[in-house]
Amino acid sequence: MNAPLISVDKVNKHFGPHHVLHDVTTHFDAGKVTVILGASGSGKSTLLRMLNRLETHDSGRIVVDGIEVNDDHKALDKLRAEVGMVFQQFNLFPHLTVLDNVTLAPRRVRKMDRAAAEARALELIERVGLSAHSHKHPFQLSGGQQQRVAIARSLAMQPKVLLFDEPTSALDPEMVKEVLDVMKGLAKSGMTMLVVTHEMGFAREVADRVLFLDKGCIAADAPPAQFFGAQANERIRAFLGQIV
Ligand code: ADP
Ligand code: MG
Repeated sequence: MNAPLISVDKVNKHFGPHHVLHDVTTHFDAGKVTVILGASGSGKSTLLRMLNRLETHDSGRIVVDGIEVNDDHKALDKLRAEVGMVFQQFNLFPHLTVLDNVTLAPRRVRKMDRAAAEARALELIERVGLSAHSHKHPFQLSGGQQQRVAIARSLAMQPKVLLFDEPTSALDPEMVKEVLDVMKGLAKSGMTMLVVTHEMGFAREVADRVLFLDKGCIAADAPPAQFFGAQANERIRAFLGQIV
């Protein structure tokens, strides 16, 4: 069997006295889509953020594609290049055009020349359906369009895995679908994705696996059919009852 792309072994995280992740042990395989569910405060964002070292872990071990996640700065640059992240609040550079948002990291970090970076960026911008908008600035775009730029920007680094932290939570309802459709396309293309979302339709339809966090512990880990099926335990039913 191939080694998992990401392994997380007995990881703990505290914020002051607050123990927010408890001995979390799991792994993520290449090419799979995992949806992470759980109530607000259950540790979903913290778990994702630890995978690219936006957050430190207190104990345990995280390895991403052979890179041990720790304070080694060389490893950190490599890690950040391999692990893309899409946030709830897009986080585009407001003073840059769509095209420049997408080419910035490949040019600065991957040292691609402008022509090559732009050629690739234009392909990605087309892939997220924004070819007509590449010379606009973020403020000229809708939230759904901005989030699609953020996805193109992440893809430009050719990451091994993409992390999504509630990518549609800040969007008006009519824009959710266009972003989920781009994510579905990515999933189909074989991208490894970890997705924190409240979009249960996406979880059912696209996820290979649902991970359910409850107070910093993995309380369920199952394929969606099973997770949403009759076996669901009391806590999961309570959670799903609140959401839908
Ligand atoms: P979720 O994404 O599931 O809503 P988080 O991972 O954001 O949960 O947070 C888990 C817990 O850790 C929450 O109780 C939250 O208040 C706390 N927390 C998250 N980030 C910080 C931080 N930077 N400082 C202090 N507490 C934090
Ligand atoms: Mg969160």
